[in-house]
Amino acid sequence: MPGSLAEELLRILALQKAKGVRYAWISPQNAQPFFFSAPQLNARQPLPPQPPSQAAMTPQPSAPPARPSPQNMPSIMKQPPRPAFQPAPHTPPAPLEIKAATPAAALDWEPLKEAIFHCQACPLYAGKRNYVMEDGFRQARVMFIGEGPGEDEDKQGVPFVGRAGQLLTRMIHAMGLDRTAQDAEHGCYIANIVKCRPPANRNPEPEEGSACLPYLKRQIELVKPEVIILLGAVPLNFLMNRRGITSARGKWLEYKGIPVMPTFHPAYLLRFERTRERFIEEKRKVWSDLQQVMARLGLQQPPRQS
Ligand code: URA
Repeated sequence: MPGSLAEELLRILALQKAKGVRYAWISPQNAQPFFFSAPQLNARQPLPPQPPSQAAMTPQPSAPPARPSPQNMPSIMKQPPRPAFQPAPHTPPAPLEIKAATPAAALDWEPLKEAIFHCQACPLYAGKRNYVMEDGFRQARVMFIGEGPGEDEDKQGVPFVGRAGQLLTRMIHAMGLDRTAQDAEHGCYIANIVKCRPPANRNPEPEEGSACLPYLKRQIELVKPEVIILLGAVPLNFLMNRRGITSARGKWLEYKGIPVMPTFHPAYLLRFERTRERFIEEKRKVWSDLQQVMARLGLQQPPRQS
């Protein structure tokens, strides 16, 4: 009903006024409901533009009045017609809305980083401290992909620096690589499915992973790794659209022509830290997966230090 719409409008305006807002702009189009009674409102469906017909151009004696009679108007609207509408000079603030992810497909490193560091494509950005994009060498032969930042990664803005990260760092060393190395022989590249920390370290929701995936895909295109290692079920699911890390691990897959080795996430291994035998058993599985990668790339395990 126009009456209740008008009351609602007044209520909203009063609230805005209380917040210090001095101008409110309403387009003539949006203002229309306040000038028409309900039956006319229903009749005012937008029509596609049409050439004026002869009948439309001829005055029709029985045509309904263009505006409602004053009796039908809500009381606040019973005023003499105003001069032509002039919007107040006011620039409305930018709307707070979730923006679509910047298309990442063609971006080079710096614009890609820029796009990631301004991303608001999913709600995760609102809860993060830092965007966590990458670590390592951008022309590495091996790329590790995890799930998303945890608490430590969120604080430091670097992937895999917490307890699981320390275990991954040791695994990388055991492969004869070094995550701090900036050369193709020893370097590796590390990234995640999502760049913002999911609350309480939960897995990314499907919309969150899908919103962030174009960034990771572009990272893969730019790094051009010879092998991708997927750490756990989440990257297996989002990048390869597959479920079941237990059965998938240790078997080669392919992503756009790049060999992919799925293995367990280091955080999964840490769950068994206190049950020594199981810990060793699960670590052996991961080690055999990594050894397949080493064999493929001709990597040598470094000599043990005494
Ligand atoms: N786990 C992940 O999957 N990624 C990180 O960066 C840290 C922990």
